[in-house]
Amino acid sequence: MWDSLISWSQKEFTHLPWRKQRTLYGTLVSEIMLQQTTVSTVLNHYERFLKEFPHLKSLAQASEDELLVAWKGLGYYRRARNLKAIAETVFRDHGAEIPEDIEVLMKIKGIGPYTANALVAIGMDKRGLAVDANLERVLSRYYGLKTPKGPKLQKQIQQLFLEKKICFEKDVSYRALNEALMDLGRTICQANRVACELCPLKKKCVAFKTQAPLTFPMGADLVSATKAQDLSLKLLRVVVKKNGQVLAYQKEKGEWLEGQWELPTFVLETNDPLFKQYPKLNLKVNLDNLPIVKTGITKYSIENFVIEMDAQAFEGLKSEKKFAWKSISERESNLSTATLKCLQKIKN
Ligand code: SF4
Repeated sequence: MWDSLISWSQKEFTHLPWRKQRTLYGTLVSEIMLQQTTVSTVLNHYERFLKEFPHLKSLAQASEDELLVAWKGLGYYRRARNLKAIAETVFRDHGAEIPEDIEVLMKIKGIGPYTANALVAIGMDKRGLAVDANLERVLSRYYGLKTPKGPKLQKQIQQLFLEKKICFEKDVSYRALNEALMDLGRTICQANRVACELCPLKKKCVAFKTQAPLTFPMGADLVSATKAQDLSLKLLRVVVKKNGQVLAYQKEKGEWLEGQWELPTFVLETNDPLFKQYPKLNLKVNLDNLPIVKTGITKYSIENFVIEMDAQAFEGLKSEKKFAWKSISERESNLSTATLKCLQKIKN
């Protein structure tokens, strides 16, 4: 059974670059990138990132700006800082070699049970189960576990695995198994859609036998309800240009995209009464005919209205941010992706 799952995965997903040339460092980078980000997005960035930082030492010694520029497009920048912090600790305390002992790994700040198990199972091909949302879902369906989804269910799966109540063939490759379970959860056994007829596990899958696989894990139906509550945001992005440079400000600690530079930005409208990331606009601006760029961040769908102004008109907006002139070039300036998209729109 698990053999068929692994054969299916190895036939279908040979193209993923982090599965071609294996190093523990490469596994660390890819696993952190893949948390909260789709495979297709990571595909566009993984090799470029490794070219920029080919080994752990180069990442440990990178500047914050170099890191953020290389991470651009992957979102959730806290993960980039976390990855760099891990590299720094391993470089300083472990002679730049990622430890192979799971207990030692778990003591490194930034490495939790998921990353530690991913390094052991996928990186070293040793016994381990990297329980992300995909493994959680597939295993809860396969074994018919009733615990509501979330940390409790993930702990239960780890415990059953420790007690060998969740067990696999003796000579199974844990690397191939973990990757196959992730592949299955990403494609055939998704949160809101299953294709059980195509699934290599269907003969023994408890959820399949109930004919209601989507009801596992419990609470999965709440996911769609949460999606319906997505928040919307209309922002005004102001472009003030001079000699190939634009006015921008650096995002502070606690703000979205900390450390990156953004155009002066104001809130036009939102359905989130608690929203505080940007100040409200204190002037009336005619939005008709302004170009709009659509972006998204966390649970917000954003419409960015882009307006060009001269420096004098901009002063009327009375922002309290500290602005500086920044080069429009992406490589030099660490401008946020949304800012670059807005600038591109004006250029067109
Ligand atoms: S048989 Fe269906 S529910 Fe069970 S693991 Fe496969 S796709 Fe998921």
